[in-house]
Amino acid sequence: MARVNGGSRSWGPRTGAGRSASRGALWFAGVGGGLLGGSTTGVLEALWILTSTAPSEYQAVLYGTLLYGAVGALLGSGVGVLAVAGSSARRPSPAVVWCVGYFGVVSSLGWFILRYLLNRDVFLEDGVPTGVLWGVAGGLAVASAIGVWLGNNLLTKTPLRALTRPKGTAALWGGGAGLALMVSVAPAPTTTGLEVPHHPQDGTGGRPNIILVQVDALRYDALGVDVVGTPAGEHPSESPHLDEFARGAVVFEQHIAAASWTRASVASLFTGLTASSHGCMTKHDVLRSDVVTLAEALAGANYATGGFPDNPNVTAGFGFGQGFDWYPYSPQYPLGATESSYGLSLYSVARKLYARVHTTHRVEEYYAPAEAQLAQLTAWIDGQGRDRWFGYVHIMEPHDPYFRHPLDGSAYARAAHAEPTPAEAADLRALYDGEVRHADEELGRFFAALKTDGLYDDALIIVTSDHGEEFHEHGGWWHGTTLYDEEIHVPLLVKLPHQARAGTRVSWQTRAIDVPATILDVAGVPVPDNWQGETLFPDDFDQQLALTFPPVVEPGDPLLPWTRPTWAQLPASRAAISEEDFDGYALQSIRADGRKLIEGLVVPADDPHRQPSEALYDLIADPQEHRLIPDDPAKEGLRVRLMTSVGSPNGDSLTTPFPTRRPGLALLGYTEDGK
Ligand SMILES: [Zn+2]
Repeated sequence: MARVNGGSRSWGPRTGAGRSASRGALWFAGVGGGLLGGSTTGVLEALWILTSTAPSEYQAVLYGTLLYGAVGALLGSGVGVLAVAGSSARRPSPAVVWCVGYFGVVSSLGWFILRYLLNRDVFLEDGVPTGVLWGVAGGLAVASAIGVWLGNNLLTKTPLRALTRPKGTAALWGGGAGLALMVSVAPAPTTTGLEVPHHPQDGTGGRPNIILVQVDALRYDALGVDVVGTPAGEHPSESPHLDEFARGAVVFEQHIAAASWTRASVASLFTGLTASSHGCMTKHDVLRSDVVTLAEALAGANYATGGFPDNPNVTAGFGFGQGFDWYPYSPQYPLGATESSYGLSLYSVARKLYARVHTTHRVEEYYAPAEAQLAQLTAWIDGQGRDRWFGYVHIMEPHDPYFRHPLDGSAYARAAHAEPTPAEAADLRALYDGEVRHADEELGRFFAALKTDGLYDDALIIVTSDHGEEFHEHGGWWHGTTLYDEEIHVPLLVKLPHQARAGTRVSWQTRAIDVPATILDVAGVPVPDNWQGETLFPDDFDQQLALTFPPVVEPGDPLLPWTRPTWAQLPASRAAISEEDFDGYALQSIRADGRKLIEGLVVPADDPHRQPSEALYDLIADPQEHRLIPDDPAKEGLRVRLMTSVGSPNGDSLTTPFPTRRPGLALLGYTEDGK
């Protein structure tokens, strides 16, 4: 310690301010070390984010430098205060204080980030085992100790000693921040699918313009189309405009999403592949570039393609811009963050603090409201002139936060209230329905404008959703954690050109993976060979329809008692596979033959739904899925069909029971059973 003190004395006189300056200098050494340590950590995390996605901008580098630098300086200030707290004889040198500030901040912020990333990307949100956490903590502690020792040598024996002075640290940090600023404003390389090619319009003359509307988290029963046959007034519709739209469309009554969270489900909607086949299932996954997306198929057929995502999970950064000429996403997140900065661990903390202080919520801080999304699509359509085009628009209402309409700044968000009480179910559903009404009104306005512009009649317009939403039907909330129908049964309304088949209701089961094939089929574009979905308008559509809609049977008719064939009986080939790997849940289900089998591969111990490892339901007798069927001859058949249906499109894993969903665990020697 005496030798260290000597260092302090030899440095002190250079400032010419004696002992009091030495206290200030020590404190500053802590702040300076912390500032640089924080910024280093922020830049490292930003680089991790930018290299694991396909970013459209690099703001995270500057944001990480500033945000982590500020937090680091604050922590380093604490180190400085501790350094000057003791008697003067026991004070360490500025070099030691600077190094403790630097490595203390790097290791503590690093610990925070590593724990988060390990859980999300390696352990797929199942929780990091305690042993691994101790290992990481021990590694960081040892690395920090070595860092302090090495750093102290460098800061006392080399010109780097300038860093322990305010000017030195300020110069280095300023240079780094300037570099970060330059990187953050640099144009990102054009990401896949964002080139703007010219589409020669030969051969598209007979083809329809296409609009795909995806309303996020919209349950089937949230729409008026669900209440056919209900006496008027008993169940007032929340969606008069979509009901009107549906009267000119084909309504698919049993449409099933491929997953119950956005990224995996939209990836299926875009690729015609089940979730384990396209592989974009977890929060870490990016949509592979070797899949053929709907937009790519249409661009290949000379369609102009414009997409307007409104959820951070389906942006170009995650590969969803493939095939689109134009796929903008410019969120207005609080505190000036862009899409890339949104991924910084500390930003999520800052955002939560901000939400606590700002209890008046603005929709724009979460997503672009429906009117803004539809205005963007309209402007893009206006720019296409006489070209054939395909427009995809993502509407975030009624996804949480559930805003009260008309907007009064109040909202109910999953992030802030993860577990509402059962008594809140009706209130939350009312808020959700209010969001549905808002989306419906804006879509009504949009359709009216298309009619005014003469674009409505010719167009193929599809309205669907990526998943539903739970309101405590099975003991939980939100979505992404079960494969019960409230989370996967969604609307599918298909308005064919010139309102062909208007008012047709299809009672058999259809799947999200069938939607892109249907769009290509109606547009007369060949369906890619490896897509697993099929067109919903096959040649025998009318025969199938005739079977499900027989002529009206008079009382006393010998055909009575006639039972209408259900969706479950027609057609047998369309088993719906849904898969989930989200928030620590890994689930698979098959919905076929009037049954649903759900395999709970990984279910957290504190699952409020208490989902068993295997559950079979009779959807005809028990559509609410509340009564487990213990034994059923159909069970084994369903299990085999499920097992042979999940896997990659190349067939790699079609022979193994379940896809390997735990690359990280396997890497570390953990197995499914060993967890
Ligand atoms: Zn969603």
